Amino acid sequence: MRLIFLGPPGAGKGTQSELICKDFGIKQISTGDLLRYHRIEGTELGKKAQFYMDKGELVPDEIIIEMIRNELRKTEYLDGFLLDGFPRTIPQAEALDKLLSDSGLKLDAVLVLIVPMEELVARLTARRVCPKCGKVYHLISNPPKNDNICDIDGIELYQRTDDTEETVRNRLNVYEQQTAPLIGYYENQGLAYKVDGNGKIEDIYKKIKDIILKILKGKEETHSEK
Ligand code: ADP
Ligand code: ADP
Repeated sequence: MRLIFLGPPGAGKGTQSELICKDFGIKQISTGDLLRYHRIEGTELGKKAQFYMDKGELVPDEIIIEMIRNELRKTEYLDGFLLDGFPRTIPQAEALDKLLSDSGLKLDAVLVLIVPMEELVARLTARRVCPKCGKVYHLISNPPKNDNICDIDGIELYQRTDDTEETVRNRLNVYEQQTAPLIGYYENQGLAYKVDGNGKIEDIYKKIKDIILKILKGKEETHSEK
């Protein structure tokens, strides 16, 4: 199954992706995580990306598209993937369509998480992440069992440098201008499924799971008709 997770920063894409991947055995591809990995490794790509990420701007399309092209070559994605944070612009979406169609592949669905702006600011400024496993917490709504310590690795959580209020507001503006138009792009392809991203993490996941199960059922039916 090939899925895209679309939604503003803080909508819960990473949180929900973790649940989907565990349940359905799909591999997640997060361009944000890939870029942060490049930064830690000090690669040329990481150095170029840093400048944009710290300001809350998008990394240029050609850099991101090349990174995704290399990632999708890996055999671990042959059975499918869940894209989190990509595409973020129309040119990125067009490049993905081309990459997939060149390999005779298609997207199954684009899940769109809808959350109001002020809730997003509150979520992002209290987000904390495990530096080792990448697990995402929230100081109030989704805290670790022990103060500021990852439940899995037992090490101290950190706050992303771009999760400060000023950068968050810029990222949300960038989303509105450059990424939100993708909702219409995928609606035109009949692929968009909107999900209300307000409420408890488990309740939102239940709605997402129902959508995925319906898509899988549809695929089975199409298959058996052939
Ligand atoms: P969030 O999870 O809060 O939405 P991400 O971790 O996905 O944030 O992205 C962090 C930063 O990485 C973005 O602000 C942007 O600078 C860069 N980035 C990630 N994905 C993309 C992309 N597809 N296109 C351009 N820049 C990206
Ligand atoms: P994204 O990947 O879309 O940027 P995250 O999954 O990282 O979003 O979630 C952003 C922050 O909001 C995290 O601190 C996370 O723990 C918290 N969060 C996620 N879903 C919810 C929810 N339904 N209600 C409250 N907080 C949430």
